[in-house]
Amino acid sequence: MCGEPRPEHVGRIVTLAGWVDRRRDHGGLVFVDLRDRTGITQLVINPERAPAAADLAGEIRNEFVLRASGEVVARSEETVNPRMETGAVELAVDALEIVSRSTPLPFQLDEENVDETLRLRYRWLDLRREKLQRNLRLRAQMVGIIRRHMEDAGFLDIQTPILYKSTPEGARDFVVPSRLHKGRFFALPQSPQTLKQLTMIAGFDRYYQIAICFRDEDLRADRVQELTQLDVELSFPDQEVLFALMESMFSTIWRDCVDVEIETPWPRMTYEEADRRFGTDKPDTRFALELEDATDATRGSGFGVFAGADAVRFLRVPRTYSRAEIAALEELAKERGAKGLAYLSRDAETGEVRSPIAKFLSEAELEALAPAAGETLLFVADGWEITSRVLGHLRLHLSRELGLIDEDAFTFLWVTDFPMFEWGEEEGRWSAKHHPFTRPADDWKDRFADEPGKALAHAYDIIVNGNELGGGSFRIHEPDLQARVFDLLAMTEAEQRAQFGFLLDALAMGAPPHGGIALGIDRMTMVLAGEPNLRDVIAFPKNQAGLDPMSGAPSKVTQEQLDELGIAVVATEEES
Ligand code: ASP
Repeated sequence: MCGEPRPEHVGRIVTLAGWVDRRRDHGGLVFVDLRDRTGITQLVINPERAPAAADLAGEIRNEFVLRASGEVVARSEETVNPRMETGAVELAVDALEIVSRSTPLPFQLDEENVDETLRLRYRWLDLRREKLQRNLRLRAQMVGIIRRHMEDAGFLDIQTPILYKSTPEGARDFVVPSRLHKGRFFALPQSPQTLKQLTMIAGFDRYYQIAICFRDEDLRADRVQELTQLDVELSFPDQEVLFALMESMFSTIWRDCVDVEIETPWPRMTYEEADRRFGTDKPDTRFALELEDATDATRGSGFGVFAGADAVRFLRVPRTYSRAEIAALEELAKERGAKGLAYLSRDAETGEVRSPIAKFLSEAELEALAPAAGETLLFVADGWEITSRVLGHLRLHLSRELGLIDEDAFTFLWVTDFPMFEWGEEEGRWSAKHHPFTRPADDWKDRFADEPGKALAHAYDIIVNGNELGGGSFRIHEPDLQARVFDLLAMTEAEQRAQFGFLLDALAMGAPPHGGIALGIDRMTMVLAGEPNLRDVIAFPKNQAGLDPMSGAPSKVTQEQLDELGIAVVATEEES
């Protein structure tokens, strides 16, 4: 392979095949960097040694495929390239063949900032780049470790269908029309949730699968519509066993793939604590800068905005800001839904408090909220959720600005005790925070319907560096409890039967207690590779608009296909 030649091979006659990474013509001598997935070796084509090869050399362009035979020779001391693994040697070419040519390239492989749609249009070229080769190798290595880990622990790989029925995980379904049963549709699974529960009821006891899940939702840098999960379920679950299994799996992956030791067991934090301290359910705990609460201190405040707000919370930032800087921060806060951003700061030298609101605050308030010299307190006063959202976001923004993040650190933690339900203002009803099969916490089992907004679930997430890598829960295995949860979600009995009758029937035929978890393989690779773009750890992703610029999918189908399916298209993208 092109990455293999070393000094110990000097004198050996070898054949290398690969792509032209670069060609340099030194008047007479031609140098070609030949590349395959293992690395690069320099070929030297000398007209005296190989006249036929030298004749061909003029035609060579980047990304041609060559086969070259010759002798591995040591480079002279001045020409050794310490940056190349093969840099102590080169191949003195005797015979050269152009195996395959390339049309002019739409972009060069070493070009930075190539438009992503162009890269995806020519993904086969893009994938030749070192970074993407590395990302996909890392991913394969990780998946290999996962499979071994799960199998060693007695989990059975069971494949579940793609053409199935709605499995709600909070997104829209992708649907597939049935030709044999006109007017009916399959839904692609948003996760194999109900199916894996059925494997438990079927007695398999420990299930895993590397499963593809389909969620029709808006795309972001860290969200795709077709995601891969490690999906896990076990019967008679013990949370400690499950947590330890995950922790040891992550430790092995991080050790083997990137040579990092992860400390276990991981810290655990309730949802309530994460929200209170970090303003999010996926806290980045590589740095502090925690949210503080001034609600009590500002009751009856002379500053009306504080006095009238449900919550007054703030961040204590170790620097002072100019007016323009504060205005920029306020803009960020407003983007996330704040009405404004109040501040109190104390000049580092003069010790003077600077703040447009100070004059409205009482002595007692000022004392309780006093910033230290050189410090600024940034306040948001609003409903609790808005203060969390805005300050949680500002916290991340400021941590980058202040350089608080240790980029080499991986801080894993479990977030537990999630709420069961959330209120949908628009729909005017409760929906499941996780999915409707999630078990209420033991002490909420009999009374979740009394206070749905407070009820807690036996659910947990894995967070690292502010990324949610996965989550799971213990499940409802009692048909009557499941029906009560469906009731609360405002599903009529007829809807329950139509959508999940099979599950209710199965739960009624000897269902063991069960629970599990699912981890996002794409996102795990992204964090492992330190890669900010999820699409760069996926071989053939769609673009930000959910299209595949390479194949043109999704594309139109023929009238004949539509007729066969009994489908009429009433509006197309162009028309709407
Ligand atoms: N099905 C869930 C999800 O995809 C994970 C689980 O509850 O196991 O998020």
